[in-house]
Amino acid sequence: MKSPEEKKDIRDLGLDELKAELEAMGEPAFRAIQIFDWLYHKGASGFSEFTSLSKDLREKLASRFRIGALELADRRDSGDGTVKLLFRLNDGAFIETVLIPAGRRLTVCLSTQVGCKFACAFCASGLHGFTRDLASSEITGQVLYLQHSLGLDLTNFVFMGMGEPLDNWANVEKALRIMNAPEGLGIAARRMTVSTAGYLPAFKRLEALDLQVNLSLSLHAVTDRLRDKLMPINRRFPLEDVVRAAEEYIRSGGRMITLEYIVICGLNDSLDDADGLAAIARRLRAKVNLIAYSPVEGQAFETPTEADVARFKRWLEERKVNTTLRLSKGTDIAAACGQLAGRFKRSKP
Ligand code: SF4
Repeated sequence: MKSPEEKKDIRDLGLDELKAELEAMGEPAFRAIQIFDWLYHKGASGFSEFTSLSKDLREKLASRFRIGALELADRRDSGDGTVKLLFRLNDGAFIETVLIPAGRRLTVCLSTQVGCKFACAFCASGLHGFTRDLASSEITGQVLYLQHSLGLDLTNFVFMGMGEPLDNWANVEKALRIMNAPEGLGIAARRMTVSTAGYLPAFKRLEALDLQVNLSLSLHAVTDRLRDKLMPINRRFPLEDVVRAAEEYIRSGGRMITLEYIVICGLNDSLDDADGLAAIARRLRAKVNLIAYSPVEGQAFETPTEADVARFKRWLEERKVNTTLRLSKGTDIAAACGQLAGRFKRSKP
């Protein structure tokens, strides 16, 4: 009998992989659909709950697999409705998941890695380096916790929390498939958005994906000079190469891209920046989503005033760019990516 730590989390298996495992155990493959029903529709947390399966099969499953669970370590509720959840994983690492309500929408921002390799200067997730990739079960586990433990009706799912999703593609792809499958979480692909900081292989990987998920490109600077400083990934994959890859991605699949742009006071909010951003947005026929920089401990950047951001937005609109403004949410609870996990990690022995 394997110890719990040695057992594989059954939620790390895609539907076809689970069918293959069952066949190897001498069980019919269709049992995989019943198991998915218990895991993803009913949110079961133990094999003993799988009452539509025989006791014998439940015992066989329990001897081979475990059903992991995220442990809630902290919760911060902001005055503006944003909620940040800090989860402790099996190995003691921490990740964050953020809930962002807006009108009828309830968006969840999911983490894909513990920390991040890419060390963007404005981001708390990159401050403390990279620890490890999340397993697909730890990605879907964030959604399951919100749906089943908190009973929330989530509408939108963005992979924009801790980590670069395209740097953990195998597990993110599996999580996307389980989230989308009717036998899994049954979430429409158009309600899921994967973001990238400009990791060049991202475009080919998403092009090859047969799910129409949305792609969001975090731009934040429109010259290599500034982008090299703000986002070190730009030294590996320079801006023009990324924009060309994005053009090719759009041409090949006819899909739209959203450009994310954090407005930082006095750094990337000039008229020249607006001109550069408008030129890229027009090349990609992309919508721009502006976000006012949210202060992060230990960083010297300045938050722009509402008037500064409104002026920047107006410049883009005058240049015929479809622009939305996402107000910084949850600044009172350190809701920007990675801030709470960083604080928690530092406050622990
Ligand atoms: S912005 Fe994204 S890619 Fe950059 S350090 Fe943060 S998590 Fe990593």
